[in-house]
Amino acid sequence: MSALFVNCLSQLDKAAKVINLDKNIHEILKNPDKILTVYIPVKMDDGEIKVFTGYRSQYNNALGPYKGGIRYHSNVSLDEVMALSFWMMIKCATVGIPMGGGKGGVIVNPKDLSEGELERLSRGYIQKIWREIGSDKDVPAPDVYTNAKIMAWMRNEYEKLSGHSDPGVVTGKPIADGGSEGRESATGQGGAYCARELVKKMGWEGKQITVAVQGFGNVGGYVAKILHKMGFKIVALSDSQGGVFNEDGVDPYKAEKIKKAGGMLGCYCLGSVCTLNQISKDGPCRFISNEEILELDVDILVPAALENQIRADNAPRVKAKAIMEMANGPTTPEADEILKAKGITVVPDVLANAGGVTVSCFEWEQNLKNEHWTEVEVLKKLEEKMTGAFAEIWEMKEKHGVDMRTAAFALAIDRVAKAIKF
Ligand code: NAD
Repeated sequence: MSALFVNCLSQLDKAAKVINLDKNIHEILKNPDKILTVYIPVKMDDGEIKVFTGYRSQYNNALGPYKGGIRYHSNVSLDEVMALSFWMMIKCATVGIPMGGGKGGVIVNPKDLSEGELERLSRGYIQKIWREIGSDKDVPAPDVYTNAKIMAWMRNEYEKLSGHSDPGVVTGKPIADGGSEGRESATGQGGAYCARELVKKMGWEGKQITVAVQGFGNVGGYVAKILHKMGFKIVALSDSQGGVFNEDGVDPYKAEKIKKAGGMLGCYCLGSVCTLNQISKDGPCRFISNEEILELDVDILVPAALENQIRADNAPRVKAKAIMEMANGPTTPEADEILKAKGITVVPDVLANAGGVTVSCFEWEQNLKNEHWTEVEVLKKLEEKMTGAFAEIWEMKEKHGVDMRTAAFALAIDRVAKAIKF
């Protein structure tokens, strides 16, 4: 068993104790409902057939159809897919959306495939699993290296095979194919609502809040821009090439312009595209490494890049007062204990980054009702979900004297447990 799924089981055990979970339900939740392993033959451009291995893990559907992305990556494994499907169950239940947990993946490096090969692989995956999915059964979505275009191919293939229209069979589609307004910024927007609630709970209202964001992609980019607009002071930003620290604040819009023009984030201090050796390594505006950014003395640290960034080796040096986990799994369980002992509040990934799956759920709902909501409507509903979930988790944390992650897991498992019938 992989370390990832072992983590899930220990999180389950911890939450089970908090809510005094029925032992039969506990037993059921230690396993997924179903796992599909499929072998997908794809005709490559040179005429040869190559067979790819794919998975779909359907963890639990007590609250609604299985929901979760499909990942294309050479490191995809059955254990990883199982763990991710468990966390999707937790995430959906944490924010109270009527969906269960699922996840899929194909072992492939999509960068090695031509556009045509990618399309045949995506359609081939659906040919193997179509009987097990559908808007009332299991609703896949994009994940690492899958996107809206791939979702449109998948919907089309599913509809050809099933012989009926079912736009809600996948989410994350282009708007023209039944996608939702607001999906692209949803994860960052959801995080920004959490940050606003955190400020209230910490009693920081009226204070200038400093923020450091590690990762400047879809999630980190939106969260930095939205927080900046809300009046938070972003003092550092980074991407895979390192980043920029400015004690007077970094304007993420200007940083984005420099990146789009081909410059590194560190060029921000010079105001235009530059070379690495032109970037100052000290002074009020300077280059910052991805290790240093995690150790800045800020109010809120936002890891928005990769998993396992805050570990037992660097957690003792973390100085932020709070951490908002926008990436999935940025904190290891050992680091969690260290942060807790240091009194650092961690807003867990299952809450902080749940805005994405929440708007995916809204897309599914719009498809089922044959509606198209405006961006204003989508954001209003998202705000309600995120602020409501934040308040419930905070209350659970206070009631049981646990950290926010344990509180979120306990709340989610309790909801799933109450819906399980056996
Ligand atoms: P992305 O590929 O758009 O961006 C990732 C960013 O991280 C890039 O700026 C990249 O340069 C940076 N990065 C890569 N290696 C780094 C390193 N060593 N140090 C610092 N930065 C580094 O991906 P994304 O969609 O923004 O996803 C980021 C995280 O958020 C992932 O953990 C993902 O699972 C999670 N997440 C994403 C969504 C979503 O809706 N996109 C939803 C929930 C969770």
